[in-house]
Amino acid sequence: MSDTQFEGFATRAIHLGYDPQQEQGALSPPLYLTSTYTHESIDAFSEIRAGTRQGYVYGRTGNPTQALLEQRLASLEGAQAGLVTASGMAAISATLFSLLQSGDEIMVDQIIYGTAFALFAKGLTRFGIRTQFADFTQPETVAAAIGAKTKAVYFETPANPNLRVIDIRAISALARSHGLLTIVDNTFATPVLQRPLEQGADIVLHSATKYLGGHGDLLAGAVLGRKQHIDLIRGEGLRFFTGATLSPFTAFLVLRGLKTLELRVARHCESALAVAKALRQHPAVAYVSYPGLPDSPGYELANRQMSAGGGLVAFELKGGLAAGKRMVAALSLVHIAVSLGDPETLIQHPASMTHALYSAQDREKYGLSEGLLRLSVGLESLPDILADLRAGLDAAA
Ligand SMILES: *Cc1c(COP(=O)(O)O)cnc(C)c1O
Repeated sequence: MSDTQFEGFATRAIHLGYDPQQEQGALSPPLYLTSTYTHESIDAFSEIRAGTRQGYVYGRTGNPTQALLEQRLASLEGAQAGLVTASGMAAISATLFSLLQSGDEIMVDQIIYGTAFALFAKGLTRFGIRTQFADFTQPETVAAAIGAKTKAVYFETPANPNLRVIDIRAISALARSHGLLTIVDNTFATPVLQRPLEQGADIVLHSATKYLGGHGDLLAGAVLGRKQHIDLIRGEGLRFFTGATLSPFTAFLVLRGLKTLELRVARHCESALAVAKALRQHPAVAYVSYPGLPDSPGYELANRQMSAGGGLVAFELKGGLAAGKRMVAALSLVHIAVSLGDPETLIQHPASMTHALYSAQDREKYGLSEGLLRLSVGLESLPDILADLRAGLDAAA
């Protein structure tokens, strides 16, 4: 389709950048399984490498199936350019290795995905890059901690695992006024619900393993932003730091997932809101955190920067972790698993599962409760999800 004729989100997710008539009429874009590319001359090769001629050199840094996915994701996030990688962590590490160097500092929100926390707290320090963790729900404390060596700010919203909401406009404006880059992990919201670049951020990251792929059958990551940054992250972070290239086959599967993204996210949100309301009404539940619930702390902000509350719900039982274990043991439809954004409803205990890389002291310092449970509400029939959770809660009470 022509890239400007149709503007709708789902239309772009399904058609952008692909004309079946260029590929023998094939409705579904071809999967290019090739490691390398041939050239008509050595000079032609050099021109491709120099960027003066269109073409591909080697599969670690580019492939036409990946390129279509990159073009679609960039469009959906409102970015100039995109890069896909072998996992969300590969997207995060390629970005940081490309933009930071020894002696630099980065400001990071204290509540993020556990493995990303480990990269910041333990990994980057080995290379002389210091991370300062701060509470990004309080932009004044972020402002006060910015120093001469700070190069970037990094956060998630809604944040994994407790779904606190960070003000993208406020943090991006603050970062820009200090000459810092703003990097946002948009995995939980997806571009269906929230587009951080439109709100002032510079770079958006994704674990495409989650909603973008959407079927719990692959790992993938993405970086979206200005061409200058994407070229650098492809040319350095991906090419010689991580080498963590997305398989073209997996790129094909993510393209397939994107076609139903808007539809799936709408259903995830609708069911998650119903689950959040049901949990809040049950006497065994101490509190519920869901950005789409009017009396949840992040609601006003979420209502401003997201178009719905998302598919994740965090909550804690009055009986704490012991009651949580009784509840989870009594579930039969809902599975115990990390990850999220799948058709299956999943429940997990962050303190011992996704966030075990935080020490117990760090969890306490940063307000990650030991009793917190996180649900990724799936696409099953809502009455079945609600009935299973109610049976679990009754068993916990
Ligand atoms: C899962 C996840 C990641 C890491 O992605 P992988 O694809 O598992 O490497 C990063 N950020 C968030 C918010 C995640 O949920």
